[in-house]
Amino acid sequence: MTQVLFAALGVLVGALVTVGILDQRQRGRLRTERVRAERAEASRETEARTSAQALEIRALILSSMEEGVLLFNGTGSRIYANTALTRHLGAVPERLDALLPLELQRAARRAADTGSPIPVEVETGAPPRWLRATARPVGGDGSVMLVVRDVTDARRLDAIRRDFVANASHELKTPVASIRAAAETLRDGAIDDPPAAQRFTEQLEREALRLSRIVSDLLDLSRLETGSELDERVHLDAIAADEVERLEDQAAEANVKITLHADGVPSIHGSARDIALLVRNLIDNAVRYTPAGGTVDVTVTTGGDDVIVRVTDTGVGIPRRDLPRVFERFYRVDRARSRETGGTGLGLAIVKHVAENHGGDVSVQSELANGSTFEVRIPVAGAVPAPGAP
Ligand code: ADP
Repeated sequence: MTQVLFAALGVLVGALVTVGILDQRQRGRLRTERVRAERAEASRETEARTSAQALEIRALILSSMEEGVLLFNGTGSRIYANTALTRHLGAVPERLDALLPLELQRAARRAADTGSPIPVEVETGAPPRWLRATARPVGGDGSVMLVVRDVTDARRLDAIRRDFVANASHELKTPVASIRAAAETLRDGAIDDPPAAQRFTEQLEREALRLSRIVSDLLDLSRLETGSELDERVHLDAIAADEVERLEDQAAEANVKITLHADGVPSIHGSARDIALLVRNLIDNAVRYTPAGGTVDVTVTTGGDDVIVRVTDTGVGIPRRDLPRVFERFYRVDRARSRETGGTGLGLAIVKHVAENHGGDVSVQSELANGSTFEVRIPVAGAVPAPGAP
């Protein structure tokens, strides 16, 4: 339409020039005005297009946000809510006075009254979730915007981290206290009594070893959590053979017989060091929790698209109620037995981490007093291509 008008104007100017009604100066002025008008119109159209696009982009951003956004005007009517908000609150009220949980409503009112942002954290729903929200005044007419974030996972991780630090400190304190006590006893005279000196130096050695095991397991765990390089071709059967050999003396000392069954399994893609750690922890546990005369069978085989490591023992077994928790850090069924046999309570947490880092998983079946079977499955898919392979 406007283009038609400009064209018409152009035609009109041309016609007036032709008939001599417009002189040279007037013609120039009219042309300039026409160009100006054309530019103004073009920029208005661009502006309209840009602001429509901006609105679209804004709506897209708001609807794809993790945070819930809710806007009430000065009279307390809802004027906007995005989809995340419905996810966080369940129902989205039409009016501020129907907003639940009440803590959010109070924060919104205070923000409107004080003109300052009001942060609030609230537990809601079943199963309970934690929401962190900020109510902000907007526009100075009593309108308020609430931005709501679900922080349940973050709080849970915080709690796990806090528990972990408390547990780790506690685990480290015990051998340290024991080392201090032995050193003090030696200094206070036991050093001159050879049998006592022998006993206390043995205690020092034992506790120092325990300390170094805990530290080494903690370092392994933290390395596994930050993610290892998984770029090797790993031969699980060869690793299992090495680890069985490594633990044979310890097993012979405990009068436990280890047997290895390893088919030629395909290699997997991953970290040989971590897989060795996984296999070592499983066999070491099986030996430590199996009384003299028992057996430990280590099998490496394939099943579907997975390589499977299965470690079966005829040991003490695990009570059914403890089974779901044995992979937790520092969880022990029998604390005294774990300690006596040099356990740290971290072995199975390491096994689980390694399995999961390799895209696999670990499971356990056990019967009290009859023995346990731990099974790790790791997918073959994604094996490192052979050198020179396409
Ligand atoms: P630990 O260093 O105490 O052995 P782990 O994380 O390796 O710690 O294992 C956690 C707990 O699971 C152990 O304390 C033990 O009670 C139980 N457990 C692990 N493996 C076995 C097994 N093969 N037989 C019986 N109990 C086991």
